[in-house]
Amino acid sequence: PCTEFDKAYFQSYSHVGIHEEMIKDRVRTETYRSAILQHRSHIEGKVVVDVGCGTGILSIFCAQAGAKRVYAVDASAIALQASEVVKANNLSDKVIVLHGRVEDVQIDEEVDVIISEWMGYMLLYESMLGSVIVARDRWLKPGGLILPSNAVLYMAPVTHPDRYAESIDFWRNVYGIDMSPILPLAKQCAFEEPCVETISGESVLTWPHVVKHVDCYTITYQELQSVTASFKFQSMMRAPLHGFAFWFDVEFSGPANNEEASSLTEPPKTNPSGSHRRKRAHPDEALVLSTAPEDPPTHWQQTMVYFYDPIDVEQDQIIDGSVTLTQSKENARFMNIHLEYASGGRSFVKECVLR
Ligand code: SAH
Repeated sequence: PCTEFDKAYFQSYSHVGIHEEMIKDRVRTETYRSAILQHRSHIEGKVVVDVGCGTGILSIFCAQAGAKRVYAVDASAIALQASEVVKANNLSDKVIVLHGRVEDVQIDEEVDVIISEWMGYMLLYESMLGSVIVARDRWLKPGGLILPSNAVLYMAPVTHPDRYAESIDFWRNVYGIDMSPILPLAKQCAFEEPCVETISGESVLTWPHVVKHVDCYTITYQELQSVTASFKFQSMMRAPLHGFAFWFDVEFSGPANNEEASSLTEPPKTNPSGSHRRKRAHPDEALVLSTAPEDPPTHWQQTMVYFYDPIDVEQDQIIDGSVTLTQSKENARFMNIHLEYASGGRSFVKECVLR
């Protein structure tokens, strides 16, 4: 059922600004376009569904790549704009805009390809992947193509002294006045909830951990309700640890490639600052859209969960614990983050909500 939260969610996508931001994110949009061109042979003459078409941009890329028919579905009023854009580009015979939820619209044929830009902050925020799963299970032909094909959510410990100084230490001396009584409130206001911001690759203390591998061909809705991962980091430097950063990448491999990918049980190879080209059978073939701190920035940036107080870690010191991500009961689009972590003999718990 379409809840009041869904209504607010789709309403937010009726504004042009949000689409402008996504389209101007060239890393995002050009990787999608390249992926569509790379998989042209799977798209030419085929039927495509674009889950959450927005302005219609990906649908039009698919039509330009030779798709026979593209169902462009969006529940937001932006679908009306997509429809006009399709007309203006003389593609009305190929691109069929359906204004409604993927869960509710009717498509009377099976499709060869599903394309969707469903990724939220920290990958799973917004919970849109569930709608891609619905489309897959309802319409995708056996052997069909899903773009992107898989995704990985990462986390790593981060030092960010400047951020801490700006928001917290600032209150210690304000025009010569000791405002340190404000410190607890300042910490709470700055760091109670996760922050979406850009972290530099140099702030990352060691190699990232995989929080979740998502195989778009096989993932179930059930699996997304709650994601838990344990981690054990070994800091590569001596530094104050301020929190954990989360980021993701998605990969655009073909269906055959994907079988190989899902049979790889080894976690991806990564380097300390976050590069993480996966070791795979055909490394050159798969395009990757990365939102890692050391890669070119995207509108997703990184998601930071800060501690109220930094932990001083020595080189080689272990930081271990676990993280659990669950859909919020208050609003299924929100994400609860439960973190347990320990280092230097002290342990901590942090709970927050990405709203
Ligand atoms: N594909 C576009 C827009 C991506 S943003 C682009 O790449 O620029 C995601 C879009 O998905 C939003 O416009 C949102 O309204 C839509 N969306 C999210 N969940 C949906 C659902 N269940 N049914 C239909 N549209 C959905």
